[in-house]
Amino acid sequence: MICKKCGVDGHFTWDQNWFENTGKWRLFDINMERPHDCDHQKPEEASLDTTMPAPRVKCPQCDPLKDSAWIEREKFQHHIKTAHFGFW
Ligand SMILES: [Zn+2]
Ligand SMILES: [Zn+2]
Repeated sequence: MICKKCGVDGHFTWDQNWFENTGKWRLFDINMERPHDCDHQKPEEASLDTTMPAPRVKCPQCDPLKDSAWIEREKFQHHIKTAHFGFW
């Protein structure tokens, strides 16, 4: 059965208990043994940005005890030029 909301084709059945309690129909995912949740069926690409932090390097010129010594690699060159006037 294909969920008409999110288009996922799964082993679904209509959740009779839920309907009796709420008057609404929802799909139950038999394979996952839990109610089908459209939000969790979306492609995972959208969450990649938040789960993979940008690689960071430690600035040798900054105070090593400070969190700000860790600079995103892309910003490191810029940081050296602006914060340390280009000197290492
Ligand atoms: Zn769905
Ligand atoms: Zn620095």
